[in-house]
Amino acid sequence: MSSLVPAGGGEGPLARCSHCGVTAVGPCARCRSPVCGDCCELTEGGATTFAVCLRCARKGGTSLAPGWVGLLGWLALVMAGCVGVGVLLALLRR
Ligand SMILES: [Zn+2]
Ligand SMILES: [Zn+2]
Repeated sequence: MSSLVPAGGGEGPLARCSHCGVTAVGPCARCRSPVCGDCCELTEGGATTFAVCLRCARKGGTSLAPGWVGLLGWLALVMAGCVGVGVLLALLRR
């Protein structure tokens, strides 16, 4: 015996905004949770416009954090490490 009754909550194909509950216009570009037009901020990521939910926008800005941001952060971390080691060596030599 097999029944093809979907196990979903019966919400239909339209997703609800995870913030206010109205019909969502699309998923957040970051966390993929559905958001409505009022609960997202549009951000331009190059040629495309992304919708980022307000929660993600508050967390890390509306940018999609492209690779070079992570690279810059990584470089800053490495430089900070080098400076720290340099300071340590200078202190040890004294
Ligand atoms: Zn909403
Ligand atoms: Zn989000």
